[in-house]
Amino acid sequence: MASLAAAPAAPRLAADPRPHAVVIGSGFGGLAAAVRLGARGYRVSVLEQLDAPGGRAYVYRQDGFIFDAGPTIVTAPFLFEELWQLCGRRLADDVELRPVTPFYRVRFDDGQLFDYSGDPGAMRAEVAKLAPADVAGYERFMAASERLCRVGFEELGHVPFGSWQSMAKVLPELISLQSYRSVHGLVSRYVKDERLRTVLSFHPLLIGGNPFAVTSIYALIAWLERRWGVHFAMGGTGRLVTGLVGLIEGQGGLVRCDARVAEITLAGQRATGVRLATGETIAADVVVSNADSAWTYRHLLPAAARRRWTDRKLARARYSMSLFVWYFGTKRRYPDVAHHTILLGPRYKELLRDIFERKVLAEDFSLYLHRPTATDPSLAPAGCDAFYVLAPVPHLDSQVDWRSQAERYRQVLAQKLGATLLPDLETSILTSRVLTPQDFQDRLSSFKGAAFGLEPVLTQSAWFRPHNQSEDIERLYLVGAGTHPGAGLPGVLSSAKVLDRVVPDAAALA
Ligand SMILES: Cc1cc2nc3c(=O)[nH]c(=O)nc-3n(C[C@H](O)[C@H](O)[C@H](O)COP(=O)(O)OP(=O)(O)OC[C@H]3O[C@@H](n4cnc5c(N)ncnc54)[C@H](O)[C@@H]3O)c2cc1C
Repeated sequence: MASLAAAPAAPRLAADPRPHAVVIGSGFGGLAAAVRLGARGYRVSVLEQLDAPGGRAYVYRQDGFIFDAGPTIVTAPFLFEELWQLCGRRLADDVELRPVTPFYRVRFDDGQLFDYSGDPGAMRAEVAKLAPADVAGYERFMAASERLCRVGFEELGHVPFGSWQSMAKVLPELISLQSYRSVHGLVSRYVKDERLRTVLSFHPLLIGGNPFAVTSIYALIAWLERRWGVHFAMGGTGRLVTGLVGLIEGQGGLVRCDARVAEITLAGQRATGVRLATGETIAADVVVSNADSAWTYRHLLPAAARRRWTDRKLARARYSMSLFVWYFGTKRRYPDVAHHTILLGPRYKELLRDIFERKVLAEDFSLYLHRPTATDPSLAPAGCDAFYVLAPVPHLDSQVDWRSQAERYRQVLAQKLGATLLPDLETSILTSRVLTPQDFQDRLSSFKGAAFGLEPVLTQSAWFRPHNQSEDIERLYLVGAGTHPGAGLPGVLSSAKVLDRVVPDAAALA
C-alpha cells in the first residue's frame, strides 16, 4: 500500500479526535463495516441515500403489515453475534433469532412436496421417498458440502484476496475440491434423480448465481445451513438492521439517511472523502463503499482514475439475475403454508438459460414464497397473513419495460399462487406492492438492476472479484455483495471481516 503518512488528514471535530471513516450505504455489509471500524477506533459516518437504513433489507410498513423487503433467511448467526460482542453486548439483548423448520418446503410442479431441513434423519427419509436409489449418494454429497464449507467459508471466506499470489496459494486446494465444476455438475456426480438434483442445487439462486454456472464451492451452503441452522429474526429482519444502527450510535458513530453520495473525492489516486448530491462535501481518512461495486466504480469515480475497473471491463462482466418481488397482505390466514416455500415450475435448466443467458422473461417461472407470519404473527394484523413472493428474472439487459409489465406479471404470479397454495388469493388481498429490476437500478443503484451484484462464477470470485481494498484508489475499501466473498448475509458480513484485515489501524492515521 502507498504511504499513509503523505495523506492530508480529514479535519477533526474538536470534540472527537478519532480518524474519520465514511461508509457509503447502509446495507448489512456497510453496517457491519461501520461497527468494525468503530471498534477499531474510527469515528464512523454511514451515508445512506434512502430514507431508512438496511439497503435490500429495507422495511415497508403498509396498512398494518410489516414487510421485510429482502433477506429473511438468516444463516451463520455467529457473524451477527461477533458484531454485538465487539460492542460488549449480546445479540440476544436486542434480537431474538428463532430456528425455522423445515428450512424450505419444496413443491414440485406436479404438487409433490419435499421438506428440506437440517435434521439428517428427516432428510434421509425425504430423499428415500423421492429417490430411494440416491440415499447413499446424498450422504456423500453432504460430506462433500462439509469439506467445501470448511475451505470455502471457514478458511477462505474471511481472507483478503488482494494479490495474485494469495489466489495462486489456494488454487491447488480449489482444484482438488473440483471448484471448476458448477454446483449442478457437482451434485450430479452424487445423485441421479433430476428432481433431487434440483433440490440439492438451487441454493446459488439465493445469492444470485445460476446453479449451472457458479463454482461448485457454493455447494457449501447445504452444510452451512445444517451446521448453523436457518433462523428468522422475530419482528422481522429489520430488527437486525435497527440493532446494528444502535451499536453504531453506541460507539459514537452516525447513520445519516437521505444522503446520496454523488462522487468519491480524490487527491490524485487517493480517496479524501465524498461529495453528496446536494453539493455538500465530507472529508474522510478512509472511504468504504457498500454501494454496488460496479456502480461505485462506474458512477462514483472518474474513468481516468480507474485502471482495473474500466467501463469496458464492467460492461463485459457477468451480473447476477434480478428479481421481481410482490409483497402482499391477506385478510385471512393460510396455516398450511410453511414459512419458506420454493415452488418449482415445469422447467429448470432451460428456465435458468432464459434468465441468465438469453435474458428473456419466460412465461413460466419458479418462485420463492415467504410467509413470515408462520413464525411471527405480529407482522400482520390479527387474523391476517403477510407474504412476499419472488421470481428470478433477467436483469435489465433483457430490455423488459417493467413500468408497463409489472402489473401483468404480478397477476400471473397471483394466478399461480391462487391455483396452488393460496386459494381465493385475489379476493383476499388487503395490501400490495412490487419491486422490479428497474427499482433495483433506480432505487438501490444496482448496475443493470442485478439483485446480487456480480455473478459468483469462478472467474469473478476471490482475487477476480473487485477487491475489498480498491486496486485503483488508495484509502478506498469495498464491502457488500459485489466484493469478496459475495452476496447473501453470510457473504456481506464476511466482507466486513475482510475489511478488518486490510484497513489501516486508526492509530496509524490519528
Ligand atoms: C429480495 C431479496 C431476498 C433476499 N433473501 C436473502 C435471504 O433470505 N438470506 C440471505 O442471506 N440473503 C438474501 N438476499 C441477499 C442479501 O439480501 C444481499 O446480498 C445483502 O443484503 C446485500 O447487502 P449489501 O451489504 O451488499 O448492501 P445492500 O443491501 O445492497 O445495500 C447497499 C446500500 O447502499 C446504498 N447506496 C447505494 N449507492 C449509494 C450512494 N451513492 N449514496 C448513498 N447510499 C448508496 C443503497 O441505497 C443501499 O441501501 C436477498 C436479496 C434480495 C434482493
